[in-house]
Amino acid sequence: MSDEKQAAPELGDHDALETRCPRLGGPVSFHYCRLFAGNDLPCWKVFDCWWETFDVAGFLKQALSDTAFQRLAESKPKPKMLSLVELIAQTRKNLSMEKSDTTEGEKP
Ligand code: SF4
Repeated sequence: MSDEKQAAPELGDHDALETRCPRLGGPVSFHYCRLFAGNDLPCWKVFDCWWETFDVAGFLKQALSDTAFQRLAESKPKPKMLSLVELIAQTRKNLSMEKSDTTEGEKP
């Protein structure tokens, strides 16, 4: 029996792995899935997409806080209409920020 302890997993341990994203239709890294859309939680499909590659549930259970893991396990996809509304709102916000950036230097 070895006295060596296993190192605790780091969040970035599997970031370089790649899989085909069923939502985007192309390859993505685990890093992308882990930081999906700038949220504090991985993509809600992370268990479905990665279970064949490595023990993603075991890894995230150790790497995330208990609260974060519970939120991820209970997360569900947003209805498409809500996602579209949020996407439109984000696009409008980005456009208005771009517009204010370009008009800041202009004289009245
Ligand atoms: S976890 Fe989400 S972002 Fe990652 S491959 Fe699956 S659907 Fe795509």
